[in-house]
Amino acid sequence: MTFQLTMYPATDGDCLLVRWGKQDAYHHIIVDLGRGATWKTVKPIFGALKNIELFTISHVDSDHVAGAVPMVREAKAPFDPLRVWFNARQQLERAQLRGKIEPFSPAEGEKLSRGIQKFRWPRNEMFGSKVVSTDSPEAKGWIEIADGLRLLLLSPDDTSLAALLPTWDAELKKAGIRPFDPDEDDFDDDGKFEPLAGIPDVLDLAKTAFEPDPSASNGSSIAFVLEWDGKRLMLTGDSHSDVIEKRLRPFAEAEGGKFKVDLLKVAHHGSHGNTSKALFEMIDCQRFAFSTDGSRRHGHPHQETIARILSNDPDRVKALYFNYDGPHSKVWKNQLLANKWKYKAVFPGANEPGTLSVDV
Ligand SMILES: [Zn+2]
Repeated sequence: MTFQLTMYPATDGDCLLVRWGKQDAYHHIIVDLGRGATWKTVKPIFGALKNIELFTISHVDSDHVAGAVPMVREAKAPFDPLRVWFNARQQLERAQLRGKIEPFSPAEGEKLSRGIQKFRWPRNEMFGSKVVSTDSPEAKGWIEIADGLRLLLLSPDDTSLAALLPTWDAELKKAGIRPFDPDEDDFDDDGKFEPLAGIPDVLDLAKTAFEPDPSASNGSSIAFVLEWDGKRLMLTGDSHSDVIEKRLRPFAEAEGGKFKVDLLKVAHHGSHGNTSKALFEMIDCQRFAFSTDGSRRHGHPHQETIARILSNDPDRVKALYFNYDGPHSKVWKNQLLANKWKYKAVFPGANEPGTLSVDV
């Protein structure tokens, strides 16, 4: 019996696979395709999978959707998902009717929309409105996926989808006049890594005030909890803390104040603006995964986030999983720090940078 999360090399982004079930009869969920170069790595892996119960692109930031651009250029569908969840312009508009920008790629989102049509993939079909939103009536409670695995949608809600609409249109307009082809992945190596300070001062960092991420595209992220065989995996995309907190609160209260999570893929690659102290207090979780190589201007994961995790639960043993052994994760390798704050830091093998599998 397996219930496992694998993070694939997506540089500063996400490309995730969830596997569960019995050997020879595994079921799968694919979440995001990372940057353009990610596709080459995962194409043979995903192409060989059976029982893909769900394929979802959490939102249209390039570090999650750019890998879909080479995928939709394939002559035929490279895999065969039973369900596809992806919110693009039409869904934002429907969400609006019903109820500071990062590198953000509506153009790539539009391409994926066309590709989904080309491959005749069933898109957002379980939702009558065709919108993946916690405000869709089908998403009110747990959703049965396959072989006993059930899913609780945490984000987005209609408000966060509609909030993206003006930006989507403005960015599309800009993309039309940009000199570069958005087919070309926008990854560049300029300023790839930021210089780092010394050993993190956890108590000091944990005191830093929470400043919520203002990105509308991140706010539109599809995020959910998967529950199987008594264990829970929480995948949060680049979602906003307040949206998740609002949605999770009644479920946490029903469980005595804290919602049990066995493994959390920390939102927005561990950015300090996406998981508040309040959210860490609302969940009972000792294991945390970070998908990022620490490159680009963000330098994820932020030390403030990890300080919040450690100071929130100082007495129990915790685990931090990093899919890259980069400068921003390496600082947590310090044994004195690990002893003091009772955690272990797990990194991929030297011959497999960017890939890490973790049992839920
Ligand atoms: Zn991201």
